[in-house]
Amino acid sequence: MRCPFCNADDTQVVDSRVNDEGDSVRRRRRCGSCDKRFTTYETADLRLPQVIKGNGNREDFKDEKLREGFFLALHKRPVSAELMEEALQHIRSKLLVLGEREVPSRQIGELVMAELRKLDKVAYIRFASVYRSFQDADDFRDALKDLK
Ligand SMILES: [Zn+2]
Repeated sequence: MRCPFCNADDTQVVDSRVNDEGDSVRRRRRCGSCDKRFTTYETADLRLPQVIKGNGNREDFKDEKLREGFFLALHKRPVSAELMEEALQHIRSKLLVLGEREVPSRQIGELVMAELRKLDKVAYIRFASVYRSFQDADDFRDALKDLK
């Protein structure tokens, strides 16, 4: 990175800090030529993919939908809200890491199942068979509502 004061190419990072949200990095840099200091910010350009539904329609990824699915799947199971939120975060980061612009809802359903399996075997076994017979996460949610 060039120094904004003297345009020299010789700058060093003297300090790096991640912000509280964990999505940007603030760096203090020092110019080796004029010795002035300046700050740069780095943010990741990460976007969650669109979800391709069973019927071919696309929609934005929504945390709310996933959360609702988890609530229903874990109904009356001894799993804390914190653990459930962690599972949601795992799914979000897996989707971000994929870097795909579009992901079939079925694939998201599989991620949900993988998390359920770690959280609560009973919920997993109870619902994996139900889910697998559906095309779409929405159908799955409807089925869970009926089971309640
Ligand atoms: Zn400089």
